[in-house]
Amino acid sequence: MTVPISETENSTQTSLNHDAGDRLRSIRESLAAALTEAGRAEDTVEIVAISKKHTVETVEPALRAGHRVFGENRVQEAKEKWPTLRDAYPDISLHLVGPLQSNKVKDAVDVFDLIETVDREKIARALKTEMDRVGRHLPCLVQVNIGQEEQKSGIDPTSADEFIRYCSQDLSLDVAGVMCIPPNDEPPAPYFALLKKIADRNALRTVSMGMSGDYEIAAQLGATHVRVGSAIFGPRPT
Ligand SMILES: *Cc1c(COP(=O)(O)O)cnc(C)c1O
Repeated sequence: MTVPISETENSTQTSLNHDAGDRLRSIRESLAAALTEAGRAEDTVEIVAISKKHTVETVEPALRAGHRVFGENRVQEAKEKWPTLRDAYPDISLHLVGPLQSNKVKDAVDVFDLIETVDREKIARALKTEMDRVGRHLPCLVQVNIGQEEQKSGIDPTSADEFIRYCSQDLSLDVAGVMCIPPNDEPPAPYFALLKKIADRNALRTVSMGMSGDYEIAAQLGATHVRVGSAIFGPRPT
C-alpha cells in the first residue's frame, strides 16, 4: 500500500528522508506486487506523476530520482512550470489530464506530449487542426465518463466506440487509448473493468485509470498508466 505521509513530512516536502523519489520507489514496489498477484508482468504500468498545484521544488526530487512521466490538469499552470524543467530534463513526457478549452488548444499542443482528455468533437477537431498546423502530432486518449456522472466530462460509455472511430478514422488523430475518473463514492473496480473492455474492443493499447487511492486495483484490471498525485507529492497546497 501507499506510504502514509505524516504531518511533519508535509511541512518539509523537500526533506531527504521521504521525498517524491522515495515515495515513487515504494509505489513502484506495491504496483509490482499488485501486478504479480494479478498475473501481469511487472513494469507494464507507467506511473504518471500528477504534479498539479505543486512547485518546481517539490517536483524536482522525482526528476532527480529518474522519473520522467508527469501530468498536469491546467494548461496555464503547465506552461508556467514545465519549460524550464524541460530544459534541464529534455526527455520528460508531460500529459494533460484536465479538461481542455478551445482557446487553450494552441498552448496545450505546444507544452504537452500527450493529451489524455479528448472528450468532445469540437476539441478533437481543434486539436487536429492545431497539430497539423504546427506538425506536432501528439498521441491522445479519449476520456470516457465511465460512471455517466453529470458533473464529469468525458464521452458517455455508450458513445465511446463511435467517438473513437470519429477521432481516429475521420480526423486521423493518433488515438492511443482511453482514460477515466470513476465516481469517487463507489468501489472503482467495475468502472475500471468497463474502461478496459472499451479499450479492448476498439483495439486500443493505452488504458489510463487509477489514482493515489486505487492504483493497485486499476493495475490489476488492466491499466497501462496510473495517475498518482498526492501519494507521491503529498497533499496539494490550497
Ligand atoms: C489530480 C488528479 C489525479 C491524481 O489524484 P491523486 O488522488 O492526488 O492521486 C489523477 N487524475 C486526474 C485527472 C487528476 O486531476
